[in-house]
Amino acid sequence: MTDFHLLITNWYRQNKRDLPWRLTTDPYKIWLSEIILQQTRVDQGLSYYLKFVQEFPTIQALANASEQQVLALWQGLGYYSRARNLHFTAKTISNELNGKFPNSFTSLKKLKGIGDYTAAAIASFSNNEITPVVDGNVYRVLSRVFNIATPIDSSQGKKLFYELASELISKENPGEFNQSIMEFGALQCTPVKPNCADCVLSEKCLALSNNTITERPVKAKKTKIKNRYFHYAVLSNESQIVLQKRIEKDIWQHLYQFPVIETDGPAHPSELHFGLKTKDAISVSEEFVHILSHQKIHARFYRFELSNKKLDQEYNIVNFKELDEYPLPRLIDKFLEKEI
Ligand code: SF4
Repeated sequence: MTDFHLLITNWYRQNKRDLPWRLTTDPYKIWLSEIILQQTRVDQGLSYYLKFVQEFPTIQALANASEQQVLALWQGLGYYSRARNLHFTAKTISNELNGKFPNSFTSLKKLKGIGDYTAAAIASFSNNEITPVVDGNVYRVLSRVFNIATPIDSSQGKKLFYELASELISKENPGEFNQSIMEFGALQCTPVKPNCADCVLSEKCLALSNNTITERPVKAKKTKIKNRYFHYAVLSNESQIVLQKRIEKDIWQHLYQFPVIETDGPAHPSELHFGLKTKDAISVSEEFVHILSHQKIHARFYRFELSNKKLDQEYNIVNFKELDEYPLPRLIDKFLEKEI
C-alpha cells in the first residue's frame, strides 16, 4: 500500500493530542515519557512526566537523586523496575557518557531498560532515524489493515510485523510516521469498538472487508495469572507505624510495606505467626484484592499496638508525617487511605 504513510500522517496532523513530549527533540525527555508510558495510560502518565521533568530537568539531576527520591516520585505508577532502571541508566549516562544522552538506535539499545521499541521511538522522535516502532498499537493497526493472522507473540509474527513496518515507514518523516501509527491505534483503531464508520483506512482495511476485526491481532499464549496471599502485620501507635523494605528480587523491590507473611493459599489467622498472636489484633481488614499484570494479590491487614512487639532490626519506625518520603506499593497506599 503505497499511500499508507500519507493517509496515516495526514490523519495524525488533524487528530493528534497535544502532549508535551511531542514538542521536544531532547532525547532525555522523550526517554522519560517513553518509560513512564510503558504499561501506563497517557492521561495517568502525563502528570508523572510533568513531575519528573520539573524535579529532574536534566539527566544530571536525575543521576544525582537518591533511589528513594525516584521511587517516591514514581509511586502509584506500578512496575517499579522501570523506575530503578531509569535511575540506573541516568547514572550510567552521567558517569560513562559525560551526561550526553545518545540518540541513535544502536547506542540506545546498549542502555539498561531500553529495548527495541524504546530505542526506535527515541531515535526516530529525537533524531529522525528511520527505525520503525512496533508496540501494541502498531500490532493492532497493521494486523487489521492487512488482516494478518500470524500471532504477534511468536518469533515469526515479530519478524513479519517488523518487516512490514519497515516497508511502510516514511523515509522523509520517520518520527512523525511512528507517532502517527501509534496515535491512530490509541484513538481510532482501538482494541474495543474501533471507529470504522469514520476511518481514513476503511476502504483499504482487509479486516473490515473480511469481518475479522475482533479477531485481530492474534495472540498465541494466554497470560497465566498467579494468585498470591499476603498477610500484613500493621504495627502502629498514634503517631508512628512500622515499615519494612522489600529487598527480594520480586514485585515491589526496594519499596516499603508492613511486615508480611505470604502463604500458598488462603490461611486461617491461627496459622499466621507474626511473633504476635493474631487474636491480639485490634482489627482485621476485609480482603483487599490487587491485580498486577501476571499476579492477583489477596491481602489482609492485622492491626496491632506498636508497643506489643519487640522489633527486629530490619524494621523502620516511621512518623505518619514522614510517610510521604517512603515509596509504597499502591496496595499499601490503598489500605492506608481506607483504614488509617
Ligand atoms: S476500518 Fe476499523 S479496523 Fe480498519 S483501520 Fe479503520 S478503525 Fe481500524
